[in-house]
Amino acid sequence: MKLRVDDITAEVRELEFPEPEGEINRMLQVGAVRDYCLNGPVKVKLAYYRAGSELFFQGEIAATAHGSCARCAEDFVASRGRAFRYVLTPRVLGDDDAKAGLRADDLEFSFYDGDQVDLAPLVREQTLLAYSTLPLCREDCRGLCPRCGANLNERECGCSAEPADARLAVLRTLKLRRPN
Ligand SMILES: [Zn+2]
Ligand SMILES: [Zn+2]
Repeated sequence: MKLRVDDITAEVRELEFPEPEGEINRMLQVGAVRDYCLNGPVKVKLAYYRAGSELFFQGEIAATAHGSCARCAEDFVASRGRAFRYVLTPRVLGDDDAKAGLRADDLEFSFYDGDQVDLAPLVREQTLLAYSTLPLCREDCRGLCPRCGANLNERECGCSAEPADARLAVLRTLKLRRPN
C-alpha cells in the first residue's frame, strides 16, 4: 500500500488494507529459522495524519500463520496481533544519525523519500516482530522424549526421567574426537 504524501493532511484519516503475505513469507524463510508461514494476507488497520513535514501512523496488524512447534514438532496455528506507531520524517542527506538519537521505545522513527510513502516495509517489520518468538504449540508443551521420541503431550512413555546426562556424555565424546 502506497500513499501520496500530498494526500496526508492534518486531518486524521483511517485506512484498512490487506498486505500480501508473499514477501513476508520469503523473509520468514531466510536463514536457519523457518518457524512460521503466513496463511494469508496481513490485515492492517491504521490512522494517519501530518504535523508539518512529519507523518504519523498508528494502527495494528493481525495475521494468522502456521508453525512447527520447537519442542514437539507438531504443526499449529499461531494468530498474532500487534499495535504500532510510526513517525516518518523526510530524508535529508546525512541526517540519519541525528534522527536515530530521537528513537523512543514505543515509537518507531523512519524516513520517506519523494512524494510517496510505501507502507509495506512498516507492515513487514511489524509482522516479523510479531512472529519473532520461539514457536511453541502451547506455553507448557512437554516436547518429545529424548530417548524414545514419544510426544509427551499425548502420553507418558515410561522412560527414565534423567536422559540429559547421557546426551551430554555423547556430546563430550564427539568434541574430543574432532580433529584440530
Ligand atoms: Zn509442542
Ligand atoms: Zn521415552
